[in-house]
Amino acid sequence: MRPPTPTSVLRLGCLLIGAPAFLAAQEHLGYEDTPIIPGTAWHVHDGERPQPRIVTPAATFSLLAPPPSDAIVLFDGHDLSQWVSADDGSAAQWKVADGVVEETPIPGQPKIGSISTKERFPDFQLHLEFAEPAMVSGKGQDRGNSGVMINGMYEVQILDSYRNPTYPDGQAGALYGQTPPLVNACKPPGEWQSYDIIFESPRWDSAGVLVKKATVTVIQNGVVIQNHREFFGHTDGIGGVPHKALGAYTAPHSPEVVIELQAHKNRVRFRNIWLRKLGDYDQPGN
Ligand code: MG
Repeated sequence: MRPPTPTSVLRLGCLLIGAPAFLAAQEHLGYEDTPIIPGTAWHVHDGERPQPRIVTPAATFSLLAPPPSDAIVLFDGHDLSQWVSADDGSAAQWKVADGVVEETPIPGQPKIGSISTKERFPDFQLHLEFAEPAMVSGKGQDRGNSGVMINGMYEVQILDSYRNPTYPDGQAGALYGQTPPLVNACKPPGEWQSYDIIFESPRWDSAGVLVKKATVTVIQNGVVIQNHREFFGHTDGIGGVPHKALGAYTAPHSPEVVIELQAHKNRVRFRNIWLRKLGDYDQPGN
């Protein structure tokens, strides 16, 4: 999600008089009137949080990786039979062509929303590939925005973060509004990129007490960008202050969750999406 118009300016704005233009360009990069993220020194969407180091990924890692034998194929290039509208459960309307699905507004339909898996999954390994629009438009959060939203609560951000500064906890691979990626391993717009995501659902005990937070590991283009990182709570976007769910897990939910691909009218493309259920150790084999 995207917050409203920034209400703050660079803390060091008074020092910018006579400063190089590139410093001035950082104005409005983030926010300083938002809540402090628990356990950190940073505000939600803090523009002064360190920008992740840039790592140039190798040309290929898991691109076009065939699904293992126990994978559930969510998109093989042909149709969206495994997906529904995240809004109302109707048929998913994103455009499928040439083995690729694209978040595409359809003429006559003013609103094309996010799509969601039909099925729910427990702890999982997810492989997906995405490409940002080759024709760059917009900047910051308005460039190639999508996201892998898990159970409508836990977002791993998708954004064109190649030479596109934004607040670090909102760039590609961020746990949105919480934790920036360890490094920026983005490829240029138009190139296919991979996310390999390992997600563990939160758990509550029988009394409804949270005993395990949701965690996620994300490998982008062969580079670990999130390392078994906990979600502090829902990643709802700030949408107003105070953050309505910052640091909070609301009511317990099943460990089985849906996965959404977010719509922001940014025409992000996806292909080769599959998932494995992780299961437990020491279970009987076939
Ligand atoms: Mg997003």
